[in-house]
Amino acid sequence: MTENLEQGYGRNSGQANVAIDGPSGAGKSTVARLVAHRLGLGYVDTGAMYRAVALRVLEEGADPDDHAALGRLARETRIETVPGDGGLEIWVNGRNVTAAIRSGEVSATVARVAAVPQVRAWLVERQRELAAGSPVVMEGRDIGTNVLPGAPYKFFITADPAVRARRRAFECRAETQPARDAVAREMSERDRLDAGRSQDPLGRARDAVVIDSTGLTAVQVAERILAHVAGRV
Ligand code: C5P
Repeated sequence: MTENLEQGYGRNSGQANVAIDGPSGAGKSTVARLVAHRLGLGYVDTGAMYRAVALRVLEEGADPDDHAALGRLARETRIETVPGDGGLEIWVNGRNVTAAIRSGEVSATVARVAAVPQVRAWLVERQRELAAGSPVVMEGRDIGTNVLPGAPYKFFITADPAVRARRRAFECRAETQPARDAVAREMSERDRLDAGRSQDPLGRARDAVVIDSTGLTAVQVAERILAHVAGRV
């Protein structure tokens, strides 16, 4: 996953991790992939990990209020990132779930699952392991504040709610107005839960650089991040 390291980002340094946080629809995933590609670092999509556990919760019909059961389910969910024809694929317990974890049902459930302390504790540990060997670009909600508080490069990407809703609708291929409205409602409810939960809420680290992506393309946001990183190396 992190074999293409450029010179200057030494293997096992653990020092050059790039943390990217922000609300949904801010463009984090596209930007994080671009930055990882340009720096030759591995890319970790932590949202996909929470989505994978939420998918298993739905499949098992587990009670989202049974925190101990959800913690057990998280520990039994073996999540792998596998390079595929169309880019990185997410596999769970040996099954390709790349499309399944993006379903409306998973999107509507994931924030509740992600608020469960036992689920977070397990996944945060896995995320730290992924960053421990070689530096990575890691994207999520609590990377700069909680998962990798020592990362030297932290970014918090925001955008106007209307723009974020439009981006999410595009991602979800919502083509009618009712479908777009439903995506916007799901997004703002998820942001409300993510920002309001007691453990590791969505938030900006004090030392994070804030980038408002409202009027910017993903490439422009990635360029800003790369300029910051270049300036400090
Ligand atoms: O990034 P994405 O929108 O796929 O994330 C899905 C959900 O996973 C978020 O809405 C949030 O509930 C949860 N999440 C989290 N902490 C992270 C990344 C994602 O709680 N670091």
